[in-house]
Amino acid sequence: MTLGPSDRVAEVPPSGIRRFFELAEEMDDVISLGVGEPDFSAPWGAREAAITSLERGQTSYTANRGMRELREEIARDARRWNLEYDPDDEILVTAGASEALDIAFRALVNPGDSVAVAQPCYVSYKPGVTFAGGEVIDVPTRVEDEFKLTPEVLYEAGAAEAELLVYCFPNNPTGATMNREELAEIAQFCRENDVAVLSDEIYADLTYEGEHVSIAEFDGMRERTVVFNGFSKAYAMTGLRLGYAMGPSEVIAAMNRIHQYTMLSAPTTAQYAAIEALRNCREDVEEMCAQYNRRRNFVLSRFEEMGIDCFEATGAFYVFPECPGEDAEQFAEELLEAEQVAMVPGNAFGAGADGHLRASYATGLDELKEAMDRLERFVS
Ligand code: PLP
Repeated sequence: MTLGPSDRVAEVPPSGIRRFFELAEEMDDVISLGVGEPDFSAPWGAREAAITSLERGQTSYTANRGMRELREEIARDARRWNLEYDPDDEILVTAGASEALDIAFRALVNPGDSVAVAQPCYVSYKPGVTFAGGEVIDVPTRVEDEFKLTPEVLYEAGAAEAELLVYCFPNNPTGATMNREELAEIAQFCRENDVAVLSDEIYADLTYEGEHVSIAEFDGMRERTVVFNGFSKAYAMTGLRLGYAMGPSEVIAAMNRIHQYTMLSAPTTAQYAAIEALRNCREDVEEMCAQYNRRRNFVLSRFEEMGIDCFEATGAFYVFPECPGEDAEQFAEELLEAEQVAMVPGNAFGAGADGHLRASYATGLDELKEAMDRLERFVS
């Protein structure tokens, strides 16, 4: 046999975001609104806990499911969202939410199963389904619905036939959020059509209007939902690689079956940091959140002044304006070349995203101001 990728891997195109980063990396003086990563460092308390754990020599594996103390803190924290999970067997700590999503697809999807993927979405969902042998049903949300998921778009896309539905709110890349009434309709759709849900809530803490609601809190939904969260976004801990999944014990056991053979346990140092983050770093999260909100308002008002249509994103740290040019990919490339501002063309995030650009405001206000000035010069 000559070495080469399997058909499943060959089928998946490289990430559309990466190509942009590579172009941007070759240039000087680039302001990147392209990355989905906080510009803050993790709260000092969390970093100190990580350092202390290293000083104490706490460098071994932990329990497969994650440290008991951390699972208890996660269970306590989840009560903020009206969610009750047993730290013994309903929580799994993983190397980032990415690992949790990947093993959920592999644990739950049989070859040929249909998985409805609400889009625009985080770039990993569709490849995750494909790697697990499933078939993706594209569910494009619509700008006129402010990129919220509705029963209409689900029925229209054929998602009633799916075994699983995966989505993320607050959303990457649109910044859309869903309120209780809107989610109640999705819960009803799932119960009526016997569809299970993978609910990616990694941006839950970054909700600027109203409160975050999880679909798992609705009647009959807890048993058909896996909730994903992590420390990368709200706690600015991307590099520490820590996330988790919460769900019914049989599903968590199935995911753990893969996790224990492939990962053994999530990074130990990061788990110490996360315990401290959950116990004592709420104020840091609120301060970062307030800063994101100020930036969000600034960016939205600058788009409005420039006459660029942009629906009011209410969560995460992204806005998703309509592209002022004909072709978003070409526009993003020309903007990068002419003004060294990097934004990602919407089509990198799947269906329903054409003609849009994603701009992240996880960048300092001074840089954001400069980026908006450059964009204004470019569009005028
Ligand atoms: N889910 C969404 C919606 C994301 O935007 C990201 C990262 O950008 C992830 C999951 C991955 O998070 P982690 O760093 O915890 O793997």
